Amino acid sequence: MNPTRNEDGAGGHTTPDQPKKPNMLGLLIAGLIITFIFNMVAGSLAAGNKPQLEYGQFIQLVESGLVRQVQIDDQQIAFTLKEEIREGGEGGEGGMDQRTLREILRLPAGAEGPAERRLLSSQVYYTGLLEDPALTERLLKNSVAFSKPIIQPNPIRDFISGWIFPLLIFYGIYFFIMRKFSNMGGMGGMMNLGKSRAKFYGMEKNTGVSFSDVAGQDEAKESLVELVDFLHNPDKYRQIGARQPKGALLVGPPGTGKTLLAKAVAGEAKVPFFSLSGSEFVEMFVGVGASRVRDLFAEAAKHAPCIVFIDEIDAIGKSRDNQLGGNDEREQTLNQLLSEMDGFDSSKGILVLAATNRPEILDKALLRPGRFDRRIIVEKPDLPGRKAILAVHAGKIPLDSDVDLGEIGRSTSGATGADLANMVNEAALRAVRMGRSKVIQEDLMEAVETVAAGKEKKDRVLSPREKRMVAFHEVGHALVSALQKDAQPVRKITIVPRTMGALGYTMQAPEEERYLMTRSELLTQICTLMAGRAAEELEFGEASTGAANDIERATRLARNMVTQYGMSEKFGMMGLESLTGQYLDGRSVFTASDASNAAVDVEISRIINECHDRATELLRANREKLVSLAEYLYAQETINGAQFMEKLAS
Ligand code: ADP
Ligand code: MG
Ligand code: ZN
Repeated sequence: MNPTRNEDGAGGHTTPDQPKKPNMLGLLIAGLIITFIFNMVAGSLAAGNKPQLEYGQFIQLVESGLVRQVQIDDQQIAFTLKEEIREGGEGGEGGMDQRTLREILRLPAGAEGPAERRLLSSQVYYTGLLEDPALTERLLKNSVAFSKPIIQPNPIRDFISGWIFPLLIFYGIYFFIMRKFSNMGGMGGMMNLGKSRAKFYGMEKNTGVSFSDVAGQDEAKESLVELVDFLHNPDKYRQIGARQPKGALLVGPPGTGKTLLAKAVAGEAKVPFFSLSGSEFVEMFVGVGASRVRDLFAEAAKHAPCIVFIDEIDAIGKSRDNQLGGNDEREQTLNQLLSEMDGFDSSKGILVLAATNRPEILDKALLRPGRFDRRIIVEKPDLPGRKAILAVHAGKIPLDSDVDLGEIGRSTSGATGADLANMVNEAALRAVRMGRSKVIQEDLMEAVETVAAGKEKKDRVLSPREKRMVAFHEVGHALVSALQKDAQPVRKITIVPRTMGALGYTMQAPEEERYLMTRSELLTQICTLMAGRAAEELEFGEASTGAANDIERATRLARNMVTQYGMSEKFGMMGLESLTGQYLDGRSVFTASDASNAAVDVEISRIINECHDRATELLRANREKLVSLAEYLYAQETINGAQFMEKLAS
C-alpha cells in the first residue's frame, strides 16, 4: 500500500504533467483495492481448502506414529503424514494405519464423499499453535522430523503472485476495455462516458472571419448584425424591455456560406465560437448526446458572451413523430437541447446559431419563439452577389488586368458561394500549370466549365463519324436557340469531350438574372433541348444516345409546367405535386390521384413532341446554316458566341 501513501504526500512536488492525467492516481488506488480484495478472497479460499485439525487430533496422530514431518512457525503447525498411509491399500500395515487415521479424523468407515476423500488425501494438515512444552519430546519419541521446513517461505514469489500479478491483470483488462470503447465511441471510453472531457466541439477564441469575408447575402448579414449588437450592448436592449433572441436558424442550400456567416458573427462580436455538427451529438449509447448537450452549454456559460454554432442541426432536430418508431438517443438529445435553450438566461449572452438545409423536417418545438426565434434565409447568390463573392476570393490571388469578373458572374447562374470559391481556385491552379504568375480570363472561363462539366478529356478519341454527329447535335441546339426570340444567347460551343460524360456542349448564358419564366420561354427552352436530337435525325436519319441528358432535362421542365406551374390546358391551375427539400435537390412528391398521374404523362409527352416537331421544322428551314456551322465546328472543335453569330449572319 506504500505507493498510495506516497501519492497522498506528494501534493507539494507534483510533476508538470500530472494535472493533465487526473485519474492516474484514482486508477492506481482502484488497482490496489482490487488486488487487496483479490488477496482476501484468495486467502479465505486457500484457508477453506487447508484441512484444519484440532490440536488433540494432531497429538493423537503423532502418538500413533503416523506423522512424518512437522513444521512449526509462529502461528500454526503444518505437518505431513507418512507416505504409505496416504497411498494405503486395504490390506497389510497400510490398511491398519488407514483405519487408525479414519478413527482419529472421526470419519465413519464406509463414507467416501468428496469432502472425506479430500481430508484423507491432503498433502499438508494444519493445526493451531498451543503452548506445549512436551511437544518436542513427543516428536522426538515418535521420530518425527521437525527440523526442515516443508513449505518453503518465498516472499518474492508470494509478492509477485499476490500483488504484482493481479495488478498487471487488472491494468491489462482495464486498458483493453478502454481501447475497445474509445474505438467505438471516439471519446475517452467507458470511464468517461457521458463526460465530454474529450472535446467533441471546436472552440475558437477568435474566428478571424468578418462580415467583409462574406460577400452578397446582405439580408442575412443585416439580421445578424443586430445579433452582434445584442451581444455587445445587452443593456441597451434590456432597458427598453426587449428580450435578446436566443437563437437563429440559418437556412439554405449547401455551400451558400452558412458556416461562414456564423463564424463571421463570432468574429465581428469578438466572442468565443463553439462549433460542432449535429451528428456529433448522436452516439451509439443512449444518453451520451444528451449529456454532451449539457456539457456544451455548461462550458459555453463559462465563456459567455459567446456563440454556439450547431451545424447540420437536422441530425438531431428531426421531427420526433417520425415513422418507424423513434430513435431514443436522438429524441433524448433533442429534448435536452430544448430544455437547455429554455434554461439559459439570454441576458447571459449565449447565442445559439444553427444551420440546416432541410428546415421542413425540423421539430416544431425547436422552431417556436424562445428557441430559434429567427430564421435567416441564405439563398444562392444572384448576379451582383456572385460578382461580389468572386471579388472576395479573387482578391486573394494575382489577377491579370484583362479579367472581367462580371462575365464570369454572368456565366455562373445557379452557382453557390462554394462553387465560385472552387472556380477561382481551379483558375489559379490552371495558371500555375500553364506556368503563368497571374490568372487570366481564360483560366477563369475554363475553370467555370471544369466545375460545371468536368475536365477536358483530350485523350478520348472520337471517330470522325461520332465527332460529326456531336458537331451537328451541338449546332442543332445553338441554331434553334438563336432562331427563337426568347432564347438565351449562345456563349460557347465545343465538341471536346469532358470527364463528366459530355461529348460536347453548348453553353448559354442569360444576360441578366431571371426570376420569372413565362410559358413561351419554357417552351423555347424545351425546343432548344430537343434540337440536338432533331439535328442528328435530319442529317443522319437516325437517333444516337447523345441526347439522354437533353431528354431528361426537357422532361423535367415539361413535368413542372404541368404539375407545378399550372401551364397545361388539361389541368389548368391545379397543383399536382408538392416540393420537398427545396434547398437540396428539390425532389417533388406527386399528390394527386393515380388517374391524374397517367394523364400528366400524356400531357408531358404531348408538350415534348410538339417542341421536337418545332425544332425539326426550324432546322429543316435553315438546313444550309446547320450544315455550314456544323462543318465549321467540326474543324474548329470549339467556337465562341461571337464566332457563331458571325458565321450565322454570313
Ligand atoms: P454552407 O455551410 O452553407 O454549406 P460554407 O459556409 O461552408 O457553406 O461555405 C463554403 C465555402 O464557400 C466558404 O468557406 C467560402 O469559401 C465559400 N463561400 C460560400 N458563400 C460565400 C460568400 N457569400 N462569400 C464568400 N465566400 C463564400
Ligand atoms: Mg456548412
Ligand atoms: Zn444535347
